[in-house]
Amino acid sequence: MGLRALFGSLPPRIPYSTGNVPVESLALPPRATLLWGGASPGDVGVAVGDTVQTGQNLAREGAGLFMSTVSGTVEEINSFRGADAVDYAVVGINTVEVDSYDSSIKSIEDLDNAPPEQLLATIIRAGFPGFDALVQGATVETLIISALDQEPLTAVSPQVLIERANDVSAGIAMLRRATGAKKVVVAIPHNSAHAADGISVDLAEIVKVRAVYPNGLPEILAKNHGAGQALKTGRNGTVGNTLVVSIEHLVGMVSCLREGRPFVNKIVTCCGKSGGELKNILVRIGTPVSMALDNLDVKLPPGGKLVINGPMHGYSCFSDEQPMTATSDSVLVQEPAEVHRFESTACINCGRCSAVCPEKLEVNLLGRFSEYSIFDKCAELGVENCIECGLCVYVCPAQRPLLHLLAHAKLVLEEETVGK
Ligand code: SF4
Ligand code: SF4
Repeated sequence: MGLRALFGSLPPRIPYSTGNVPVESLALPPRATLLWGGASPGDVGVAVGDTVQTGQNLAREGAGLFMSTVSGTVEEINSFRGADAVDYAVVGINTVEVDSYDSSIKSIEDLDNAPPEQLLATIIRAGFPGFDALVQGATVETLIISALDQEPLTAVSPQVLIERANDVSAGIAMLRRATGAKKVVVAIPHNSAHAADGISVDLAEIVKVRAVYPNGLPEILAKNHGAGQALKTGRNGTVGNTLVVSIEHLVGMVSCLREGRPFVNKIVTCCGKSGGELKNILVRIGTPVSMALDNLDVKLPPGGKLVINGPMHGYSCFSDEQPMTATSDSVLVQEPAEVHRFESTACINCGRCSAVCPEKLEVNLLGRFSEYSIFDKCAELGVENCIECGLCVYVCPAQRPLLHLLAHAKLVLEEETVGK
């Protein structure tokens, strides 16, 4: 990925955005595309031509939750394999302008006294991601509410803190009861600390976090300010003890639970080109990226590239037809001249990759072992601890694709374990 094209000559201490970036609302798309990771078309419980409601579960009975974020008519059911090696079921819906809401999401007026089980079940049913580990019985030692974005060139969390600080205290109390967390921490960018003034200190410990990458990644927050390890659910089960929830999702829960509405709108930071102005837009989940770019009067030029969810550990794509999801935080457009094309050369053993690695991994060795498919050595060196932050790639003078090599080794080892 062309990191230097995005950051110029910035050193690895890469700052987060903390400025005031007001949120503009985008119109409902005429067609929404909904993605369901880890599923196939056979898991979908509706058919082409069916009418669906906003908040309706589109999964067949017993297959889990796949929630519609729009009302309309199903136009397509399909599948694809993502760049993350995950299979997705895809449902395309021609939308109608006025939502009709599925009645199975009930409002909870008294968030302070509702039973924890009811709170958690409603949060999950309303479509908030990240609670799989709790469903599988994980214990939350520490709940971290993060007002830091995960990536640079994103301006979602600090803006939510500015605009919705009043709902944070109510959200903390509600989510603490819903999750059974023993301790709550609110992580605030060090240069926006005044924005936390309205948050009740009885409810949570406020920590100022230096607003530089990768301090906003859940794994780093859990290690530095939580009980040690972020909760994660993979094909090999659940690990961790710290649940990290974005402040955007937290205040969204307060609104959705009070009103009995599903989580259907997401703030996304868009940037037309490197170094360009950041813009926050509120989109309906399922909106194609192209529509957000049209709103900014930006086109993806031939040979240009989109960077989704940040330049450090996000991903690149060359089509703007892909949809926004519940975890889309940013979309960056690179002009053809900015797209960094490079050939990696041999490792010169400079040691920079290991020096910057927040997990203290022997990154150069791991890269080589993965390259030559010596995966048992990767396991011995703890490749599963790589959080895919991309700092090693950023500093490598030989431009080695270290993140991809380590991610590949993790995937192979995970598949081997599942197959046993
Ligand atoms: S991507 Fe993995 S190996 Fe590279 S610096 Fe981050 S944690 Fe370390
Ligand atoms: S930074 Fe690149 S060249 Fe230096 S040791 Fe790591 S892999 Fe080798």
